[in-house]
Amino acid sequence: MKTEFTPAQLADPDIVEADKILRKCVHCGFCTATCPTYVLLGDELDSPRGRIYLIKQMLEKNEPPTAEVVKHIDRCLSCLACMTTCPSGVNYMHLVDQARVRIEKEYVRPLPERLLRAVLAYVLPRPRVFRAGMVLARLGRPLAALLPGSKPGATTPTFLHRIKAMLALAPASLPAPGARAGSVFPAQGAKRGRVALLQGCAQQVLAPRINQAAISLLTRHGVEVVLVADEQCCGALTHHMGDDRDALARARANITTWIAEAERGGLDAIVVTASGCGTVIKDYGYLLREDRDYAGPAAKISGLTKDITEYVASLDLPPPRSRSDLVIAYHSACSLQHGQKITQLPKDLLSKNGFVVKDIPESHLCCGSAGTYNILQPDIANRLRDRKVANIASVKPDMIAAGNIGCMVQIAGGTSVPVVHTIELLDWATGGPRPGLN
Ligand code: SF4
Ligand code: SF4
Repeated sequence: MKTEFTPAQLADPDIVEADKILRKCVHCGFCTATCPTYVLLGDELDSPRGRIYLIKQMLEKNEPPTAEVVKHIDRCLSCLACMTTCPSGVNYMHLVDQARVRIEKEYVRPLPERLLRAVLAYVLPRPRVFRAGMVLARLGRPLAALLPGSKPGATTPTFLHRIKAMLALAPASLPAPGARAGSVFPAQGAKRGRVALLQGCAQQVLAPRINQAAISLLTRHGVEVVLVADEQCCGALTHHMGDDRDALARARANITTWIAEAERGGLDAIVVTASGCGTVIKDYGYLLREDRDYAGPAAKISGLTKDITEYVASLDLPPPRSRSDLVIAYHSACSLQHGQKITQLPKDLLSKNGFVVKDIPESHLCCGSAGTYNILQPDIANRLRDRKVANIASVKPDMIAAGNIGCMVQIAGGTSVPVVHTIELLDWATGGPRPGLN
C-alpha cells in the first residue's frame, strides 16, 4: 500500500513503524474471511483491510480521529485472526495498538463512556479493588434485569446495555483468595528448574484454582515456583484500551521486579497461565524498543516468558497413570493461537495425558471475550459467544478446555458444560485433583 507521510511525520519512530506495516499490505482482502466482525457485520470498514485504510488516513492526515474511525476501531476485537491469515506479514497488532493510543489521546468520548472506561481501567488491574467490585456487581445483579439489553441487529451499544453486560459477568460467588505474592513453592524431589508464575489480576480473583493447578503440577515435577512480590498487572488491559502511559509504567515496574528476582534466585522462565497476558509480556521488547533504559531488559523478559503449556512441554512429563477418556473440546484462545502461534501443543499435551481432544468448528473465530470487549461491545460479543458455544456443542464434549480466563468466563456464560483451564486437566492427569467446576 502506498503511503504519503511527510518527512516531518517520519521523524516520529511510531510513524516509521506504521509506515512499514502499511506498506506491506497489498489490499488482497484474504484477511476479511477470518475476521469475526466482518463475518458478522459484512461491512468492509469492520474488516482488517477497511480498518487498515482508516488508520492510514487518520495517521496521514494527522488530525484527531473522527467518530466513524473510532466506531470501527472500537469494534475490532484485537483477536489477530487477520495476522494468521495475511500472506504478506502485515503486523496488524502493532498498527491497531498505535491507532488505539492515538484515539485515547485525541478523541473525546461521551462522558458516560469515559467514566465507564476509567472505572474498568482502574478496577480490573487491581485484584483487591476488583474483588470488591465483583461483590458490589453481584449485589447489583438483580438490577440488570431492569436495564435495556441488546436489540436485534444492534451493533452500537448504549451505556446502560454496557452496565447490564458488566453486571451479567459477575459470578454468583467468589472463591477464597489463592496463594499470596512473595510465596515460594519448593520443588519436590530433585530440583530441575525455577520459574516465576504470573499472578494475574482478574484470574487470581475469579479462578485462583488455575495457578494452584500450575503450582501443583510444576512442583510435583521438580520445579520451584515463585510468586514474585511487587508484581503488577502486566498492562494488557490498559494497553488494549489505548492507555499506554499506564500499560508501559506497569511493564517497566514488572521488568524491574522480575530482573531483580532473576538476579537473586535465578529464573528459567516467567510462566503465564492467562494467554492474553502472555501475548503482551512477550511483546514488551517491542513496546519498549525506544526506551534507552528498558529496551534491553524488556527484550530479555519477553524472551524468558512462556505460556504454561510451552513450559510443561519442556518437562517431558511421564505417561499418565490412567486414561480418563473424557471428551475435551479444546477452545484455542485467540491470544494463544494468533498472538503466540501456539496451536497444536496444548492439544498434544492433553491427548498424551489421556484425554480425547476434539477440535471445534470455526476454531479461528474469537469467542467475544477480548479483554473488556464483552462489556464495551456486548452485542457483538454475545453473538460471537453464542456462535462459539453452538460450535462447541456440535462435538458433544464432557468438558471444555481453554488457556485464558477471559475466554473461560465468556464461554461459561453460554453453556452448562464445565469450562476448565488446560493446566487443570494436565494437573489432574498427573496426580492433582479432578477439576470441573466453573
Ligand atoms: S490479508 Fe494482509 S495484505 Fe491482504 S488486505 Fe489483509 S492485511 Fe492487507
Ligand atoms: S484483530 Fe480480529 S477483529 Fe480486529 S481486524 Fe483483525 S481479525 Fe478483525
